[in-house]
Amino acid sequence: MGKTVKISGPLIIAEDMADSKMYDVVRVSEKGLIGEVIELRGDKASIQVYEETAGLGPGEEVVSTGEPLSVELAPGLITGIFDGIQRPLTTLFFKYGSRISRGVFVNNLDRDKKWTFVPCVRVGDEVVEGDILGTVQETEIVEHRILVPNGVHGKVTSVQAGDFTIEETVAVIQTPLGEKKVSMLRKWPVRRGRPYREKLSPNRPMVTGQRVVDTLFPVARGGVAAVPGPFGSGKTVVQHQLAKWADADIIVYVGCGERGNEMTDVLNEFPALKDPKTGEPIMKRTVLIANTSDMPVAAREASIYTGITIAEYFRDMGYNVAIMADSTSRWAEALREMSGRLEEMPGDEGYPAYLASRLAEFYERAGIVKLLGSKERTGSVTAIGAVSPPGGDLSEPVSQATLRIVKVFWGLSASLAYKRHFPAIDWLISYSLYADQMKDWYSENVNADFFKYRQFVMTILQEEAALDEIVRLVGMDALSSKDRLTMETAKIIREDYLHQNAFDDIDTYTSMHKQFLMLKIIYEFDTRAREAIANYASVSDILASKSKEKIGRAKYIPEENISEFDEILKLINTEMKALQGGEEHV
Ligand code: ADP
Ligand code: MG
Repeated sequence: MGKTVKISGPLIIAEDMADSKMYDVVRVSEKGLIGEVIELRGDKASIQVYEETAGLGPGEEVVSTGEPLSVELAPGLITGIFDGIQRPLTTLFFKYGSRISRGVFVNNLDRDKKWTFVPCVRVGDEVVEGDILGTVQETEIVEHRILVPNGVHGKVTSVQAGDFTIEETVAVIQTPLGEKKVSMLRKWPVRRGRPYREKLSPNRPMVTGQRVVDTLFPVARGGVAAVPGPFGSGKTVVQHQLAKWADADIIVYVGCGERGNEMTDVLNEFPALKDPKTGEPIMKRTVLIANTSDMPVAAREASIYTGITIAEYFRDMGYNVAIMADSTSRWAEALREMSGRLEEMPGDEGYPAYLASRLAEFYERAGIVKLLGSKERTGSVTAIGAVSPPGGDLSEPVSQATLRIVKVFWGLSASLAYKRHFPAIDWLISYSLYADQMKDWYSENVNADFFKYRQFVMTILQEEAALDEIVRLVGMDALSSKDRLTMETAKIIREDYLHQNAFDDIDTYTSMHKQFLMLKIIYEFDTRAREAIANYASVSDILASKSKEKIGRAKYIPEENISEFDEILKLINTEMKALQGGEEHV
């Protein structure tokens, strides 16, 4: 047993700690505050404490549990709201801000609740780690699959259907090392990735229903993306939109160091939201982790690892999981604060030298993988991190470290947000390195022409940027009719396609099919208009056309009225033909 010698905010130095190991969880003082050994020198340990340390003094007891910081994995996770070290928070917490009383021992997951376990194996079956032993219908949407624990294989000697708590034995496996009783509860250290057989190369998008994302800068299932942007540019709204609409089976949402009221927004909004696929509240496929700015800073550091461990656990069941972290900058600040208190040599802007490797340790746990187990199964974790660089300046260390890791970059721009162009994803700086490898998926599942239209959109937007320069110098009048049309088509693309109102019932989500049709009418409009111009039609007549007006409202066409797009296409054709030869259109 050790004794505290120094307390510095969330950091405690204790001596007589020779029997503890790096990353051991310890209990501090008679209050039993939870901490973690983050540095050991001789018998002196530096401990980051996940709870408020006010009132502690030197000479208090420190007891090592001998175990690393771990999460509990079992039914009861979905719809749960936890803090950074997985202690349960209730909605009351966010309403009244009452903190969890310090050091109280609370189970992370409910020990009394009974879950109906349905076996998938029979007595006599040979099983290996990762095989599905049975299932629990955890919510209307999520079937929780109970797996053979890691490191266990052998013959099933007993398995029971029925109602069990997560600690009760549901199966017994005869292993080479003896009999192993298996319950539904697993533990896993948060700083270690859960094993899998093989990482695969991502080849299909995670569809989000957000047009600028799915069309221009798609993120792959199992991919990694970052959303950097200054304050108020829409990072949180982007993350919320993905949590609501992404076609993932499970969402893990980590609210990390942002203001408490943002988490309150999530808690107020999510329960009311319906999953478009199932009609059930999306909370029924969601795990929330919240370490807001008013909660202890060390637990914030742990929160993203807690989150991704839970994500991997559901991946191992064969699910496609998406994890959002808002914001990794606040997480990095927690890292910096701890590093400063440890008096480590500061790197760039005071961040520790290991900032980049810690960030990588988080993002590298995303991926689409072949799972353990005797059957061929895959699962994926897609990770999306918000980055809030001070003043929006991407040259700062957290942005730079993130950009070296992620393959999708949705750069939010203050000037777009200022013009209320949302999502303020700047098409001239953003990119997706997955787009090319997913081309086949788009051809097969959306339309063979999808990438042609995508290229058309990109080209027009780039041409617009170039023409903008000319217009600035010599004015709009200097442009040819063709270039004027390019400017107008670009405007249509920006305002009627890329702009998407998260708060409009219909516009908030656009299916891939509707995205394709929206692109098609813009493409047809531009192509037919160019033909008309070549036949002496005037640009102003083209802009006054009914088809242009219809394109402007196409985003509000409900998914069930999708046939209206055929009429728009016909209208474009007839109108543009009529405009040829400079005749007035009637
Ligand atoms: P950040 O997290 O970057 O500070 P927020 O996500 O909180 O910014 O966005 C700030 C505000 O911008 C929102 O409250 C909302 O009014 C507006 N906004 C952002 N994205 C959208 C969107 N897609 N549709 C409509 N409004 C948006
Ligand atoms: Mg925010």
